[in-house]
Amino acid sequence: MAEIPKQANVVIIGGGVIGCSIAYHLAKLGFSDVVLLERQQLTSGTTWHAAGLVGQLRTSINMTKLAKYTSELYRGLEDETGQATGYRQCGSISLATNNERFEELKRNASMAKVFDLEVNVIDVDEIVERYPLVKSSDLLGGIHIPSDGYANAVDITQALAKGARKNGAQIFQNTKVTAIRNDGDKVTGVTTPDGDIDAEYVVICGGMWSRDLAASVGINVPLHACEHYYALFESVEGLDANLPVLRDYDACTYYKYDAGKLLVGAFEPSAKPWGMDGIADDFCFDEIAGDFDHFEPILHDAMERIPALQNAGIQKFFCGPESFTPDVRYHIGQAPELRNCYVSAGMNSIGLQSAGGIGKVMSEWIRDGYPSVDLWEVDVRRAMPFQGNRKYLRERVSESLGLLYATHWPFRQYETSRGVRKSAVHDRLVAVGACHGEAFGWERPNWYAPDGVEPKYEYTYGRQNWFEHSAAEHKAVRESVGLFDQSSFAKFRLEGRDAVTVLNNVCANDVDQRPGRLIYTQWLNERGGIEADLTVTRLSADTLLIITAAETEIRDFAWLKSHIPADAHCVLTNVTSGLGVISIMGPRSRELLQSLTPADMSHAAFPFATNQEIEIAYARVRASRITFVGELGWELYVPTEFMLGVYDEIVSAGNEFDLVHAGYHALNSLRIEKGYRHWSHDITDEDTPLEAGLGFTVKFDKPGGFIGRDALLQQKEAGLDKRMLQFKLQEPEPLLYHNEPIWRNDEIVGHITSGAYGHSLGGCIGLGYVHVDKGEKPDEILGSKFEIEVAGVRVPADASLRPMFDPKNEKIRC
Ligand SMILES: Cc1cc2nc3c(=O)[nH]c(=O)nc-3n(C[C@H](O)[C@H](O)[C@H](O)COP(=O)(O)OP(=O)(O)OC[C@H]3O[C@@H](n4cnc5c(N)ncnc54)[C@H](O)[C@@H]3O)c2cc1C
Repeated sequence: MAEIPKQANVVIIGGGVIGCSIAYHLAKLGFSDVVLLERQQLTSGTTWHAAGLVGQLRTSINMTKLAKYTSELYRGLEDETGQATGYRQCGSISLATNNERFEELKRNASMAKVFDLEVNVIDVDEIVERYPLVKSSDLLGGIHIPSDGYANAVDITQALAKGARKNGAQIFQNTKVTAIRNDGDKVTGVTTPDGDIDAEYVVICGGMWSRDLAASVGINVPLHACEHYYALFESVEGLDANLPVLRDYDACTYYKYDAGKLLVGAFEPSAKPWGMDGIADDFCFDEIAGDFDHFEPILHDAMERIPALQNAGIQKFFCGPESFTPDVRYHIGQAPELRNCYVSAGMNSIGLQSAGGIGKVMSEWIRDGYPSVDLWEVDVRRAMPFQGNRKYLRERVSESLGLLYATHWPFRQYETSRGVRKSAVHDRLVAVGACHGEAFGWERPNWYAPDGVEPKYEYTYGRQNWFEHSAAEHKAVRESVGLFDQSSFAKFRLEGRDAVTVLNNVCANDVDQRPGRLIYTQWLNERGGIEADLTVTRLSADTLLIITAAETEIRDFAWLKSHIPADAHCVLTNVTSGLGVISIMGPRSRELLQSLTPADMSHAAFPFATNQEIEIAYARVRASRITFVGELGWELYVPTEFMLGVYDEIVSAGNEFDLVHAGYHALNSLRIEKGYRHWSHDITDEDTPLEAGLGFTVKFDKPGGFIGRDALLQQKEAGLDKRMLQFKLQEPEPLLYHNEPIWRNDEIVGHITSGAYGHSLGGCIGLGYVHVDKGEKPDEILGSKFEIEVAGVRVPADASLRPMFDPKNEKIRC
């Protein structure tokens, strides 16, 4: 047997389908010295028992692109490597048994058009024609994806391994990584019983072992194994090898032809977490005994859907472990805690159908140091430290597993692991009717139920039960004044004599301002893409306060930290927990605050984009005159222990000024009307400020320049080929969420990145990029016919490059 090398460029830990795909893609990219280490045998963890489904339609555009690539790769893998893969393009059918599910399927079919994936909406007759075994009496219709299929997971993995070896990668089985080595900042290699390997990069692809392996070097990969079931039926009358894969989401089941048998798998709503005390070291091609009583209701429904099962026999009842994550999205990318250490784990039972795409983007990420497309939704940097907590994980994954097949309701809230992070005024807000949603562990008021209304969601794709209540909050903010609890903002302090110089190199705007100025800025990468979108307040000569979204707390902190030169004199501190935030927004906000503080709140004394420390109640709070809703207003940064006192005083004074409590749904509809971009939806590391219409924040000529300047200058010179527009639907009824295709003169030119009903503009508003010809004039663009496709129907829309609400900012700068 060959000896393991002493040195490698990349060491991959784990020989499941994910590790092998990354090895395959790295080797194809020309990486020499790729070494994969597997503690037992290839596929012996979870991969060997995958049911084999290779579907492509996911709930977001980039994830669907990745899955589409996987299918394309698997289609040619056997020819390329000579290793059989069992890949078969049999198509798939997804069923709808209620109108809401049908709307979801139709919306997804519309989304698929953005990148040319053929998805056909079909009626019940066609379902029966394509799948004669199905009971159809309760069906409304479905979708058919001709290019979906299935494969043998073990064979696919072996083919990827063979392809990797062919291109120079080395694979060692029965070689366990016992430690990941590092110098405190950067990964340096791995330790195995057969010796150490020095490596430039290490990639953790250890499946359900990844959480503990990563934690051993301080990396947070929150995942937990769950029991996952299927049953194989034999002697099924009428079974035909040409049957498509069938998904019956409303019954949590899927059906797949499997070598003369029918495999019935499930994503039950309440799953069983597994491996609470860690995963055994000798686990190798193991099964779990499983709980037949747990699976039995699923089988009962399956026999209703496919009556032929009633006369068939169960040849095998199978239960195996698979890792699930708190938000049912995988963790991939470079770990923020350790340079050059990458992660690809937490596959949520779609690892086979994801592996091709993950291998491709991970290998490019390792090559370039950044992802080739926006992968934020699955980026390991979104993981919050508390999510590594086992109690949290155990409870949450019992819900995550079922979410794969549950209806993906807009605004759906998790039911498990709630109440994790609470603002200091949380209970006060509950007392006045707050309906909290969960975001990154934070309980945040999304809307307020008036007296007599229960603060509880009733989900639908149409107007949900909170629609009118949120509309009232929205209007009150426009007409009088609203209170938002935004304590979940992430807050950092950068201090030291080099703080301004360091931050100015990272910010596209100029933060070298007099103390008290507040700057809205983006952080860009070298390609000009937007890495972060935030505000910076100069507190003193050498202290800056950075306010960013809750979602990007870890990512933004890591980005800035990685751009502080080793010899710079400055310290970055995360002060998120120390400060609560109450935002007072609306035309009467000045009157209200003036009644509470001796500070002069007039426009002359407290202009827009400035910050002052003012007194309210017994506290000194930092007030920032800024807005995310397009109205006069202030964000109040209050030391946590003063929050209750400040809140109580504001609320008791508020009666006189018609103060309302307003939630995040109102915040969203207000900001979309005003055309304010939201990082992760409207702006990402793929989009530049010029494309996003944020060129006004870029200070090309500031001394010292900034990261991304050259790329932006080049783009400015060459002209833009995509631009962000704001749309308003001409029909009042349809609702936009995101991902709806944008048609321009009968051609799809982009998709909606965020949407909400604009209660002041009187219609549904969306933001989205459209591809344009370089040099195209605004008049030419806006003179086109625009339509937005909602669940298969094209709805005419007005388009604008400027915000449709208050384009001259008259409501803000007064
Ligand atoms: C019942 C069931 C049905 C499924 N059906 C499907 C399906 O139809 N379609 C689909 O897409 N997905 C399906 N999946 C999910 C799919 O099987 C997984 O997502 C996928 O196999 C995960 O691959 P992986 O490489 O991340 O993990 P694994 O296959 O578990 O590979 C990780 C490897 O890392 C090794 N390892 C761990 N620690 C170390 C260490 N310290 N040193 C060296 N090696 C180490 C392990 O031994 C293991 O082999 C199914 C899963 C189950 C349980």
